[in-house]
Amino acid sequence: MEEKPKMNDDAFRFADELGPLKIIHVYEPTINLKAVLVVDNIAKGPSIGGIRMATDVSTEECFRLARSMTLKNAAAGLPHGGGKIVLYGDPKMPKPEKEKLLRGMASALRNEETYIFAPDMGTDEECMAWIRDEVGRVVGLPRELGGIPLDEIGATGWGLSNVAEVAVRYCDFELEGASYVVQGFGAVGKNVSRFLNERGAKLIATSDSQGAIYNQDGLDIKALLELKNAGKSVADSSLGTCINRDDLIDIECDIWIPAARPDVIHEDNVGRLNTRLIIEGANIPITHAAESMLYKKGITYVPDFIANAGGVICAAMEYHGANESSAMAAIKEKLMRNTEQVLERAKQKNIEPRQAAIELATDRVKKAMSYRRFSSFSTAPEFL
Ligand code: NAD
Repeated sequence: MEEKPKMNDDAFRFADELGPLKIIHVYEPTINLKAVLVVDNIAKGPSIGGIRMATDVSTEECFRLARSMTLKNAAAGLPHGGGKIVLYGDPKMPKPEKEKLLRGMASALRNEETYIFAPDMGTDEECMAWIRDEVGRVVGLPRELGGIPLDEIGATGWGLSNVAEVAVRYCDFELEGASYVVQGFGAVGKNVSRFLNERGAKLIATSDSQGAIYNQDGLDIKALLELKNAGKSVADSSLGTCINRDDLIDIECDIWIPAARPDVIHEDNVGRLNTRLIIEGANIPITHAAESMLYKKGITYVPDFIANAGGVICAAMEYHGANESSAMAAIKEKLMRNTEQVLERAKQKNIEPRQAAIELATDRVKKAMSYRRFSSFSTAPEFL
């Protein structure tokens, strides 16, 4: 058996058929800057993926997030590969310190043209404006700098509502008159609630970190939005019956939408869901084991990286100079087509939607790799 070179074991521990192309550690002791950039695969184009700022991030997390961006961008049909940055530090540190770190990091990565900076947990549009000032290559900018404020316009929620439009056809019911439950009435949850309601569906329960509210006749979304804008919890309203936050899972409904935290549905509580369709708004809201259990029970689910791609499509459209309305049109078109392709493939091949989605995305990346001189990267002028 061929012996692996020992020296390389550690540096190449993530390497597989898709990438990662590069892992760059950034270190500048004078400003306490420590960051990692992973550019996973750029066969489809320069990578896009956000900067996650936290005190407990790691190179491994960065690689896993970069890989999920490769698949997400490919599944969304974007001419972009996947990358990610983790930046060590407390995102709530004093602003001048944070600005110094972000500017230092951007400056250190000035020539990494295969990566386009974007926001993620712990970074926002102001951070992107600092990066724009340093290097230019960035998405998620403030409106004043040509950005499309994706949470304000509800890009991800809009995407989810279009996913629902297609997915209900695979569950034999209509959106008009269907009941739905949204876990997490935040940027994603509020907007998907609004857009589904406009299509005639009825929000019967929702939650935030403080509590949950339930009304079988339908909740008044406008009133809930006003409440949230006033800094209150959905549980502070008198629009329905207040229930325990985590009992939202028991509410019988046609569509259940997780839009809060990772891993909220797992093997121990998945059996409590009483629904026909799940559309994953949050990232990894359901463990893989629980997804398999849903599948076996005949409950359809649309996996996160297919369903919640509205945000990244919006960011890519911003990068290519689009305005808000063309970004929203692209989200609709891409997500309806992808949902159809994933659910159709799952049905035809008798496989889980997640497996179908991974196959679809991987096929697209491999096809793009086949056009390249060096498969996962390129020296074509667009990157120079
Ligand atoms: P947000 O902070 O605006 O909203 C999250 C909401 O969930 C808040 O209302 C919060 O109170 C609530 N919440 C927190 N813990 C809860 C719990 N245990 N039970 C019920 N509610 C709880 O965040 P967001 O931008 O809406 O993102 C939500 C999820 O969607 C995250 O997983 C995020 O990674 C994912 N996501 C967001 C986008 C986007 O465009 N914002 C895009 C793709 C994926």
